[in-house]
Amino acid sequence: SSHPIVVGNWKMNGLQASLDQVLAVREACATGAAGRCEVALCVPATLIAQAASLLAGSRLMIGGQDCHAAALGAHTGDISAEMLKDAGAKLVIVGHSERRANHGETDAIVNEKAQAAARAGLTPIICVGETRAERDAGETLRVIGRQIDDSVPRGSNPEATIIAYEPVWAIGTGLTPTEKDVAEVHAFIHRRLATLVPTGGKDMRILYGGSVKASNAAALLAIDHVDGALVGGASLKAADFLGITGVY
Ligand code: 13P
Repeated sequence: SSHPIVVGNWKMNGLQASLDQVLAVREACATGAAGRCEVALCVPATLIAQAASLLAGSRLMIGGQDCHAAALGAHTGDISAEMLKDAGAKLVIVGHSERRANHGETDAIVNEKAQAAARAGLTPIICVGETRAERDAGETLRVIGRQIDDSVPRGSNPEATIIAYEPVWAIGTGLTPTEKDVAEVHAFIHRRLATLVPTGGKDMRILYGGSVKASNAAALLAIDHVDGALVGGASLKAADFLGITGVY
């Protein structure tokens, strides 16, 4: 892609003191040390408003990690896309494998959340990925095809929708697929998106996620159809994260 994006996903990590890391990434974005890609950090909900308020005028963007499909209502503990937008978020991750596994989120639910994000003016980062068992059974493309078909809303705006391919077995394990396997899945997803979003599915950015770190980022981000990265553990410390964004 001509405008790659590297997104950090802090997951359930980050206290007030972690705002220092946001400031360090902001500084690197200002000086050019963060590279020329777009850069975003999806921090815990408790830090979104404060982090966003530190970033007025910065190209660093703040995102959420999940949203409810409804705009408001009797949903104790949930957060709507409108609330994230109001707090200063620009993006939101939906359908992360940890949400799918720990909260029973189906493709249909993820689809509704992606629609909610678009409704609120946020860019959804829609996550897909096969398990180890599915890969071993040779079912990767079938599984990814179903997740794309059912999780990505028809009529999605290609400029304001991001896909993240995160093999479940590569998350937090230090394992990554071969470059050939990443290339195969990303090319497959772009072809599939083109059938769903005739106005430009091929232009929708597809991020790779799963054990991305500074030492493997250059190789992963150079693969055809890889338009950036979704980074977990290596996004918590600014220095590690900037080693990835700096590839661009
Ligand atoms: P790790 O980078 O820690 O493997 O996590 C990847 C991920 O799940 C990002 O959403």
